[in-house]
Amino acid sequence: MSRPVPRPYLANPQITRAVLDRHKFTIQKKYGQNFLIAPHVLEDIICAAGITEHDYVLEIGPGIGTMTQYLGANAREVTAVEIDRMLIPVLEDTLQGYHNVEVINQDILKVDIRKLAQEKNQGNPIKVVANLPYYITTPIIMNLLESHVPIESITVMVQKEVADRMQSGPGTKDYGALSLAVQYFARPEIVTEVSPDCFMPQPKVGSAVVRLTAYTEPRVIVQDEALLFRLIRASFNQRRKTLVNGLKNSPELQFSREEIETAVAAIGKPLTVRGETLTLEEFVALADYLTGECGR
Ligand code: SAM
Repeated sequence: MSRPVPRPYLANPQITRAVLDRHKFTIQKKYGQNFLIAPHVLEDIICAAGITEHDYVLEIGPGIGTMTQYLGANAREVTAVEIDRMLIPVLEDTLQGYHNVEVINQDILKVDIRKLAQEKNQGNPIKVVANLPYYITTPIIMNLLESHVPIESITVMVQKEVADRMQSGPGTKDYGALSLAVQYFARPEIVTEVSPDCFMPQPKVGSAVVRLTAYTEPRVIVQDEALLFRLIRASFNQRRKTLVNGLKNSPELQFSREEIETAVAAIGKPLTVRGETLTLEEFVALADYLTGECGR
């Protein structure tokens, strides 16, 4: 019989401060360290992620282990990946008794998550939960989505503005490459907004918990997914330019102006159109036309 894990106790400003002092730990701004101190937010995250005793969970950036305790208490097994080696002794202390939690001292962008999912969850879709470091939110999310790791859902705390971008549609100021990438793979939903006083130290920006539920069947089908993402990136890299000029100027693409103009006309758009007005389906049509006509 498995042993019961302790009850989470870290989500509290006095206890967090005491743990930091006991370990003489200095908070590292460069790693985006803002520790959660509000139990209701942690409960909201666990509930939104729908964590049960059957789940294997990957946590990105456990910090001092505040959310990790909640995950350990609710999930079957947890892997927590933390870049800051100075936090490892702290986690050894705060996660005592949480036998279903493994901490890996590594940069999440360098972890083979597909291998983890294979070893820990027999290759079945995993749940990712995190209070993300805001300085690399987009690379982390894009890496998880584009690398085709088997994922059921990603429930993360992000900057409020980033949560808005994930949900935005064409023609809005927040619409961009992140919106399209997220919406290609998953259904985004803002679960709750979170004020700065729920963290220690307080971030300068508002936050939100967003849940991305991965599609089991793709929402759209594209012949060349890598080309689709190159087109999307090129279109938003130079937001003020027309779509034709954005694609022509991109170092990632080798189409001639004529090929691009023909493709834009073929999807029924004027040559003056800007990329930011195209829907995901229109980007797919553009990618498929260029794949078919130009063989690239
Ligand atoms: N989960 C904790 C909490 O909610 O209190 C800490 C969240 S804090 C916003 C972000 C955490 O991610 C920090 O512990 C930071 O050291 C860690 N981190 C930053 N960059 C990372 C990376 N590239 N890979 C793994 N962890 C990272």
